[in-house]
Formats: sequence, C-alpha cells, structure tokens
Amino acid sequence: MRHRIIVLGAGYTGAFAAGRLARRLRREDVAITLVNAEPDFVERVRMHQLAVGQDLKSRPFSGMFAGTGVELRLAKVTGVDVDRKTVAVAGADGAEELGYDTLVYALGSGWNAQGVPGTAEHAFEIAGRPGALRLRERLARLDAGQAVVVVGGGLTGLEAATEIAETRPDLDVALAARGGLGDWLSSKGREHLRKVVGRLGITVYEHAAVTGVEADRVATADGRAIPAAVTVWTAGFAVHPIAKATALEVTGTGQIVVDGTMRSVSHPDVYAVGDAAMVMGPGDKPLRMSCASGVPTAWQAVDAIAARLTGGKLPNVPIRYFNQCVSLGRKEGLIQYVTADDRAVRAALTGRLAAVYKELVCKGAAWGVANPTFGLPTRRRRVTRERVAAGSAVAASA
Ligand SMILES: Cc1cc2nc3c(=O)[nH]c(=O)nc-3n(C[C@H](O)[C@H](O)[C@H](O)COP(=O)(O)OP(=O)(O)OC[C@H]3O[C@@H](n4cnc5c(N)ncnc54)[C@H](O)[C@@H]3O)c2cc1C
Repeated sequence: MRHRIIVLGAGYTGAFAAGRLARRLRREDVAITLVNAEPDFVERVRMHQLAVGQDLKSRPFSGMFAGTGVELRLAKVTGVDVDRKTVAVAGADGAEELGYDTLVYALGSGWNAQGVPGTAEHAFEIAGRPGALRLRERLARLDAGQAVVVVGGGLTGLEAATEIAETRPDLDVALAARGGLGDWLSSKGREHLRKVVGRLGITVYEHAAVTGVEADRVATADGRAIPAAVTVWTAGFAVHPIAKATALEVTGTGQIVVDGTMRSVSHPDVYAVGDAAMVMGPGDKPLRMSCASGVPTAWQAVDAIAARLTGGKLPNVPIRYFNQCVSLGRKEGLIQYVTADDRAVRAALTGRLAAVYKELVCKGAAWGVANPTFGLPTRRRRVTRERVAAGSAVAASA
C-alpha cells in the first residue's frame, strides 16, 4: 500500500514540488501524481515577451518527468473534496475522481479585473498563456500611432509597458499607475526606471486609479479619459475559485491559509504552495504572489511532507526576499535589492547587466523545473509502514 501524494498544478511551484518529492521519498512507498491542465510548462514570467511576439521554448512535461517516478495526469481540476480526500478532474478520458493521502495544492493564479467596469469585456491580460496569445494577436494588428495603455504600475505592468514600447516604437504606449512611478523603489531604482521609460517614449499617468475601461479608452478617478485602442490590465492576480469552494480555511480572496510548513491550518493532509497559499513572511507580512517566494514554499512543503512521513526533522527555513528582478525590455533591467520583508534598500543594479541578470534568473527557474530532480542529494527515505497505513492520520499528529 503506497502513500498517495497528488500535486495539483505544474507551474513553477507544483513542478518543483513533484520533482523534489520524487527525490526525497522511496518509490516503493509513495505514488506521486502531478495533475496539470496543459501538456507543457508555461513560463508565466515571460508572458509579456510572448505577447509582443517573441517565441518561447517549448517544454513538454512528458520529457521532464520521464523516469522520475512522477505520474503525469493531463486533466483540468474541477473540484477538491477535502473531507473525502478526493480530487475531481476532467481529461481526455472524461471525468474522474482521484483519491489522495496527501495533497499539494499549487494551482497558481490568474488575472484580477478587480470588478472595474468594462475590464472583463474590453481589457487584455497577460497572467497566463491564453491571455498573452490573445494580446499578441491584437498587437500585431495595430497600426502605427495607435494607443496602448497598460494599467498597473507594479512589476508586471512595468515589464509589459517597456516590452511593448521597445518592440513597437511606432505605437503610443502609456502606463497608468495608482501611485507614483516605481514609488517603492530606491532613489537609484526610481531614477533608472524614469530614464528608461522616458527613453522608450512611454507616457506615464501617475496617481491615476482606473475606474472604467471602454473599447477605446480608460477612465480614471480624477476624470481623465485616456485613449486606448488596447488596454492591458496588469493590476494584480487572483487565485482560482476551487479552494474557496472547499471546506479548507481560506482568506477572503481564496488563498489557502497555511502554517510555516505550508500545511493547511484546517486540513493537515493538505499543503498549499505558491500563489495559491497565504503564507506569512518576515515582518508578519504575507508573501506576495511571485516565483521568488513561491518556489521556496514548494521546497518547504516537500521537506515537511517527507519529514512527517519518514519521521525526520521538520524544516524551519525562513522564507525571505533578496531582490526584485525587473526586465525593462530586452536591453534594460533593474535589480532592486530588498530587505528580508521586501522593502527596497539603496543598492540597485541597472542597465544591461541587470537585463542579463534577470534573463539568467528566468532561465534558471525554467531549467530547475525542466530538471526537477537534478542536484538534490538522492536521499530517498523510507516511509514507515505505520505512517503509510495510517495515511493522513499520521500527518495530522506529526
Ligand atoms: C507577466 C508576468 C511576469 C512575472 N514576473 C515575475 C518575476 O519576474 N518574478 C517573480 O518572482 N514572479 C513573477 N511573476 C509571478 C509568477 O509568475 C507567479 O507568482 C508564479 O508563476 C506562481 O507560481 P505557481 O506555481 O503558484 O502558479 P503558476 O505558475 O500559475 O502555475 C499553476 C499551474 O496550475 C495549472 N492549473 C491552473 N488551474 C488548473 C486547473 N483547474 N486544472 C489543472 N491545472 C490547472 C496551470 O496550467 C499552471 O501550470 C510574473 C507573472 C506574470 C504574469
């Protein structure tokens, strides 16, 4: 009787988690299933690049997980029953129910229209591949001089606006930010950002809360109407509604509330990682949705699961931030160094070197996913018989 571990979602965190589990636990003792809707790994951090017409490397999961002991299920997760410990999926073979002893929930997030009127109907988004491809197709049809407005002055908005302006200097690109441009950055970071944005000819609307989106303009709280043949909405991410529909304890926005080992505070046989989890970080601040903090949550969850199943020591590695890596087109970048709780310090790396650094970070993350078990010491530990037999009851008491 093997302990059944199901990982939902094969984005950055789920794929890392499945690979690491395979490396940590003996194959005879566990059955690891990774469920994902799509057959290949999507580099979400490059969706702005995909949107402007760049082609991304194809990374099929079948190759990545071959020989690792992880069984890949291509199916859409439609529901989770945490009391019966089952997951409902719909795939090519129809609907099915999978039973688990331990669940790792890593379904990530999508875009967040924030209920702003007209956004769902008229705006484009780049939170995932379908949205990025839709925008790509639309941008390709725009004529010189047409206006693109990127809504959101956060990291994704900055990356999107600069990428579009660099690729299509013939377009009239604007950025609408609720606050000041890069106002959370150090003075060096802010100055560099202004320089690059100016050089790319991007018009910046600061302190411009967008209150409505129409087919040809966006409206702001202070009464402006900014012309927009295309509006790109980047103002925040929202988690998928699946967790909220379960008996799991979730936040108002639907993130699963977990403890320091990424275990659900309400259901001990469920772990949540990445964007889907509400994790308190340094300074008692929730971790923001990012790969930077999401990948360590996957490591933490896996090491905790392995420890609980094998009787090992629970991990206790605080998750902290080191820097924010922002691409500003392909030739420019900004690496803003930060405190453990993500506040900017004075030091920042700028220019081409920063662009190369950011590129290496993206490549490194994708390589880590593509080689899920590489580099980890092969310490496949035995799951003790009693723990397998008792299933989650053991997890609950550990
Ligand atoms: C344009 C852009 C740029 C970004 N840049 C950065 C950056 O520079 N640095 C950084 O740290 N973060 C960045 N982020 C954020 C980062 O991409 C996310 O925080 C990260 O991808 C979260 O990882 P995850 O594993 O939790 O979720 P995801 O990567 O979203 O993975 C979720 C997986 O679950 C699958 N899935 C979802 N629903 C279902 C379902 N119902 N059934 C089956 N499968 C499903 C998806 O197909 C996907 O494979 C960026 C995001 C965007 C959109």
